[in-house]
Amino acid sequence: MLVFMLGVMLPAVALIGVGVWHLRTIQREKSIEAVFQREFQQVLAIAEKRIDARAFEIAEEARAKFPDATQGDQLEAFLASHSDITHAFLWTGKGHLEVQSQPDQMSDSETAKEGKELASMLGSWFDPESETKDWIAKLKKIEAMDGRHVYLTSNWVSRGDRWFYQSLVLFKARGSTAEHPAFAGFVYDTDYLSNKFFPQALNEVLPSQNGNDTSHPPVIMVRTAKDHTPFASSLCWDGGSPEVERSFDGVFPGMILGIKLRGTTIASINNHFVQTAFLILGALSLLMGGGMLLAYRNVARELALAKLKSDFVSNVSHELRTPLALIRLYAETLELGRISNPGKRQEYYEIIRKESERLTSLINNILDFSRIESGKKEYSFRETDVADLVRSTLESYRFEIEQNGFQFEQKIDNDLPQVYVDREAISRSLLNLVNNAVKYSGTEKYLGVNLYRHNGGVNLEVVDHGIGISAKEQPKIFEKFYRVSDPLVHDTKGSGLGLSLVRHVVQAHGGEVAVESEPGHGSKFIITLPVQTGEMQQAKGMTA
Ligand code: ADP
Repeated sequence: MLVFMLGVMLPAVALIGVGVWHLRTIQREKSIEAVFQREFQQVLAIAEKRIDARAFEIAEEARAKFPDATQGDQLEAFLASHSDITHAFLWTGKGHLEVQSQPDQMSDSETAKEGKELASMLGSWFDPESETKDWIAKLKKIEAMDGRHVYLTSNWVSRGDRWFYQSLVLFKARGSTAEHPAFAGFVYDTDYLSNKFFPQALNEVLPSQNGNDTSHPPVIMVRTAKDHTPFASSLCWDGGSPEVERSFDGVFPGMILGIKLRGTTIASINNHFVQTAFLILGALSLLMGGGMLLAYRNVARELALAKLKSDFVSNVSHELRTPLALIRLYAETLELGRISNPGKRQEYYEIIRKESERLTSLINNILDFSRIESGKKEYSFRETDVADLVRSTLESYRFEIEQNGFQFEQKIDNDLPQVYVDREAISRSLLNLVNNAVKYSGTEKYLGVNLYRHNGGVNLEVVDHGIGISAKEQPKIFEKFYRVSDPLVHDTKGSGLGLSLVRHVVQAHGGEVAVESEPGHGSKFIITLPVQTGEMQQAKGMTA
């Protein structure tokens, strides 16, 4: 048991404990959320880089088509072939700033207003004496470091009572020289950015989603710092707030990227994981507990059986030794020929006979038991008058029982049906019950045997007024080797086989054996034998 506890229970409990502790740590430290957040940060960093690269690419493409410094009158044609661009401008020297707006994108008044505002803003930008000309330095730096020729920044415009985000692109105009610097640029409109550029760029950033990979794919959006609703989003964006956000550093100042999982939140994934893990751990613990309980019960049963067997061996040896010693003693005494009194001699013969009978019945029990255990016990069923069988079985005992001071009552009904039984097996079962009744009678020496018709079959009862059996012990006494651990029982010899044999025999006859008993008031054992046809019994006999 100790080995079982140490070897199985302790590791199992430790395993469960570690599992629970581990899950609690995950729960407390929100480890899964942290992993997601790290991943999302990385995705957003990559997204920003790619979106920047794409913005540069298309701005460079447009710059390549931009009229050179001497072709200020070509701006309108440039705009006509670039519907995504709202305003284009060219600065060729102080006071020479031309701003051209896309004519059909807004109402005339709005276009004119925006054009004017842009012109005034750019006028101050391009003024070599102005303070706000640091973008020229930036442009130079970009050219030197990245080999790029365009500088992108944001431009907010108000239309009505709302503010709109535009992207402003600036570059050195073709044909610009050190003596005659010329700068040009254009403005991408809000609609183009939010309906075309960003959605496309965002979708390209995300891994392709064919819907089967995962039920909660990452989705991404971009918003302006002034507004929490998405400015643009990838396909499948399902609303809600992003789990992780990242501000654009360079190309789209004032824009913020956001990422989340479609249809769920990281917190709920974390919770779900922990809950499922706890459930699995719980189920495994239950299984483990169940397994251990079974193992424990098995070990306990084996131990109990081992003890019963060793008790059995010592009981049987004792039971064999006593009659053998008596037989030897009386046989030797007779052999010496010193007993002249015939009465005494007769008494010795009787003792020798009785003790040999005891030996025979004990050995019969052991043989029957071993046949039953090895599945070799065979019965030969014959149509029998049970009343006759019971009478003749008891007859040889009656005298002895009564001589021992027992009050013996035998009630046998007259109109009993014929029953198919194995005569010897039933007779031995009856003797086992009678022997028990005598053995466990204590001072109340009464033995009753009743045989009567019951439910078409017959009932055979053996009644005593002896020590009785407690309700707790009653189901156990029919088990092999089992003996009640009561001092009254321990003083009596026995092997613990009798009742288990009775039950086996009776069941092989299709019947049952039951006990009714009260400690101190005696016991009643009832064998119920059904009336069965010869064929049925024969079939049973083969398999018994
Ligand atoms: P045993 O050889 O010990 O008598 P049995 O299988 O015949 O073995 O009986 C099992 C146990 O049932 C006995 O040890 C005894 O404790 C109890 N028992 C059997 N018959 C009686 C009875 N008539 N009165 C009280 N206890 C009994």
